[in-house]
Amino acid sequence: MYQQILQELQPQDALLVAVSKTKPTAAILELYEKGQRDFGENRVQELLPKYEALPKDIRWHLIGHLQSNKVKYIAPFIHLIHSVDSLDLLREIDKQARKNERVIDCLLQFHIAQEESKFGLQWEEVQQWPANVFSALPNIRLCGVMGMATFTDDEEQVRREFRQLHRIFDVMKNRFFAAEERFREISMGMSDDYRIALQEGSTMLRIGTLLFGQRNAEEEDVT
Ligand SMILES: *Cc1c(COP(=O)(O)O)cnc(C)c1O
Repeated sequence: MYQQILQELQPQDALLVAVSKTKPTAAILELYEKGQRDFGENRVQELLPKYEALPKDIRWHLIGHLQSNKVKYIAPFIHLIHSVDSLDLLREIDKQARKNERVIDCLLQFHIAQEESKFGLQWEEVQQWPANVFSALPNIRLCGVMGMATFTDDEEQVRREFRQLHRIFDVMKNRFFAAEERFREISMGMSDDYRIALQEGSTMLRIGTLLFGQRNAEEEDVT
């Protein structure tokens, strides 16, 4: 399965983030040995012991909701935070990045699904942010956007939601980041909808189940 997904990614050169939440370090090492270096976790308290235990050239992606008071724990090493869903959080990441003398790469997570439970910004909200906000946070490097589609069999709905995310990306790119090569990521697509996501321009897939098997639902409480 791993090789097959990698092949599907080839034509457009999207990145595969292997979502290892709830899975043991042994399972992560198995993929690591096949060459995988990008892994995603959604909880800080689970990420920390894995970071400690596993090879230091792994690039860790935080993909779940992040509480401001936990930013300090991941600031020294996190590779990319996909799930920035408020201006306060962005400011806190900037502050902790500065303390660590780092620039931290971030994506803004947008709410594109119909389900209410999913985290994320509304485009209207971001438009109200101070005009200079992105240049005023020197230790943040904004690299693009992230979103999760509705959990549904209706492929057209999923496609519409991914298109909406792509439009938000385009508007942000034109308005704030036209000159910045770095702003180029659209993190969308999971095990059930990654093919649609690729067709709609995804540059990063976040895939768990297809690589690691089903998760135990009880372990997966979203914090
Ligand atoms: C769990 C999770 C994934 C991976 O989901 P699968 O359906 O197992 O591929 C992707 N993105 C986020 C934000 C997740 O929480």
